[in-house]
Amino acid sequence: MGKASLGLDNQVYEYLLSVSLREAEVLTKLRQETNQHPASIMQISPDQGQFMALLIKLLGAKKTLDIGVFTGYSSLVVALALPEDGRVVACDRDPEATKVARRYWQEAGVEAKIDFRLAPALETLDHLIAQGESGSFDFAFIDADKRNYHNYYERALTLLRPGGLVAIDNVLWFGSVADPQDTDARTVAIREFNQKLHQDTRVEISLLAIADGLTLAFKL
Ligand code: CA
Repeated sequence: MGKASLGLDNQVYEYLLSVSLREAEVLTKLRQETNQHPASIMQISPDQGQFMALLIKLLGAKKTLDIGVFTGYSSLVVALALPEDGRVVACDRDPEATKVARRYWQEAGVEAKIDFRLAPALETLDHLIAQGESGSFDFAFIDADKRNYHNYYERALTLLRPGGLVAIDNVLWFGSVADPQDTDARTVAIREFNQKLHQDTRVEISLLAIADGLTLAFKL
């Protein structure tokens, strides 16, 4: 599986990047280092990162959630797009991958914008809700363990303001969600999540076939 969007051949994808990608040097460096990681497939693609940065600017976002940090690309691309007083609450329980993340946040000079919580994301999100932060976030990116997508989504929606946006990654799960024979627990979880979102009248949605599928849910 390459990094291109599902169904987009490499030649077209390379062209797309060549005429649209404006990736900061520090992001390129992080992406190259992460490519050596055995789980590098977990990193978002650079065109998806640039799209998320654009969403941050469109929303005028200041407070964001990054649920599933890995080596930090999504937190970094969002932090770079945020204003000086912007904040990313970054949630991950993996101390090793996030060491890489923290090194790059520092190198990019955005570590002050990133409030990193080394804990299961559900605990962090419940803590934010208990602290009275419901309705105060502008944007949330969900890209952690797939079987908890439903739980992350519900908490993210609570924490968002009306007019805020949740972006959910890997909703096409390399195409496996479309194969009824595929009953892997993660595939089933994403399939059920997609069906639930389709019926959810609390949000306006759009499922984009960018990278491995990205659903945008706009809180009404
Ligand atoms: Ca992902």
